[in-house]
Amino acid sequence: MVRFVHQVDSSISNDSGLSQKIATAERICRSYNRPLSRIQRDTYLFLLQANAPQTAYQILDGLRQSGASGIYPQTVYRMLSTLQESGLVHKLESTNAFLPCVKPARPHESIHLLCEICGCAEELVDGRVSDALLRDAQQRCFKIHRQVVELRGVCAVCIRTGAN
Ligand SMILES: [Zn+2]
Ligand SMILES: [Zn+2]
Repeated sequence: MVRFVHQVDSSISNDSGLSQKIATAERICRSYNRPLSRIQRDTYLFLLQANAPQTAYQILDGLRQSGASGIYPQTVYRMLSTLQESGLVHKLESTNAFLPCVKPARPHESIHLLCEICGCAEELVDGRVSDALLRDAQQRCFKIHRQVVELRGVCAVCIRTGAN
């Protein structure tokens, strides 16, 4: 198992947690008929072990540092868009950074809470907001292509440690 040099999320702080996430990812990708390639797997692993959303260039650096060669920015962008299509990864529009989905097995609209102090992000999966937005849009005969809901502020840890 590749280990990237990041502070690790507590829910995936051991190899078995990570292996489980990877196994789920592989199952999802197979169900879409696009098996997870090795480099996609490493990218997903890198994001799982990151303590904050990562830009494509940070991902590229991380992959290169872990020994991957022959990877270029366009390779990373292509890979990220496939991972997004499979629902494994979300993109934060306001920061152009990527993070792993917390509930990849079920397609959903998500809401992200972004901390302006430490840069961490948390995903909320709550259908109520999407339902309300969809209803309002439908009333205006507006056809939604994509929903982006990002809340910027200060996370609980930064509030507790007085960083704000
Ligand atoms: Zn998600
Ligand atoms: Zn914070």
